[in-house]
Amino acid sequence: MKKFNFSAGPSTLPEEVLQQASEAILDLNKSGLSLIEISHRSKDFIAIMDESRALVKKLMKLDDDHEVLFLQGGASLQFLMAPLNFLKKGSKAAYIDSGNFASASIKEAKKIGFIDVLASSKEANYTYIPKNYEIPLDVDYLHLTSNNTVYGTEMHDFPETSVPLVCDMSSDILSKELNFNKFALIYAGAQKNIGPAGVTLVIVNKTLLGKTGRDLPSYLDYQVHISKESMANTPPVFAIYTTLLNLKWLEKQGGVSAAAERNKIKADLLYGEVDRNPLFRGVCEKVDRSLMNVCFFLNDEEKLKEKFDKMWKDSNIVGIGGYRSVGGYRASIYNAMPLEGVQTLVNVMKELEKTA
Ligand code: PMP
Repeated sequence: MKKFNFSAGPSTLPEEVLQQASEAILDLNKSGLSLIEISHRSKDFIAIMDESRALVKKLMKLDDDHEVLFLQGGASLQFLMAPLNFLKKGSKAAYIDSGNFASASIKEAKKIGFIDVLASSKEANYTYIPKNYEIPLDVDYLHLTSNNTVYGTEMHDFPETSVPLVCDMSSDILSKELNFNKFALIYAGAQKNIGPAGVTLVIVNKTLLGKTGRDLPSYLDYQVHISKESMANTPPVFAIYTTLLNLKWLEKQGGVSAAAERNKIKADLLYGEVDRNPLFRGVCEKVDRSLMNVCFFLNDEEKLKEKFDKMWKDSNIVGIGGYRSVGGYRASIYNAMPLEGVQTLVNVMKELEKTA
């Protein structure tokens, strides 16, 4: 029986996507060839790449200025590619330090140019999203992390500014509707809401590229990847194909707006129990709570941890251990987590209360 996998990423994918991906490993479209042995230059794979890019554009309602790229190196490489492609020589960029990945992006960007950290919630172990900061107009971009996977906070509003916005959306992309066209650059490792690990989705406003005065190494230059249609070198064919299957599943389920409705119901159910059940408490400021990563503590770990851990494991649940710098529990409830999984966890929490 398939387990309810609450892991933060790689994370659960829909059963039918796993089924179809497995079939393609053995025989892609009855071609007599495996997906992972055909040439990426074959017409079958070029069709997969084209359809994947087109479907991202459709699901995110992207305009023609925005290009969709499937790259490698994870979101981590984008920490570096973002400043290389958007930070002019001798100029500066602004960053918000809202979590460990935001902090990692700042560390990388500082190797490229001057970085102004406008606000940080580090002093509160990143339990809230920094707000009410002034955005200087002389920066080349403002970098945000829309969802902090480790701490369970999410930006529910984006700043209104004329400064180009760059956003790491690794852990909440495609989970809710946004005007994605207002971003200069969006990047996301696939392994949460997009598909399997091994590919990174990059959405870039091409009209803003080529203005830094830098002579970039080809592989780090978005313009090169745009001109080569994400095939500057051999792309991760399995990850891209499985992403396409997952995007098709999302579309069949009603697209991003329907996913947002389901995600709200799941998050309300789980946070509702965290707040109601006297044995538990939430980790973050309520207004900033993530709809994707629900972090919570047991009030009396010493007394109840062993019992609770046995109960959820016995209920077919995996992956709710909190990140090491936070502790407690983190249930990641991305698009593919069924309501039934969340209900199962909530039932275990209720059962613990009854028997504690
Ligand atoms: N940003 C965020 C918000 C993340 O959650 C992660 C990883 N889970 C990363 C960046 C790093 O991504 P990757 O492992 O794809 O480099």
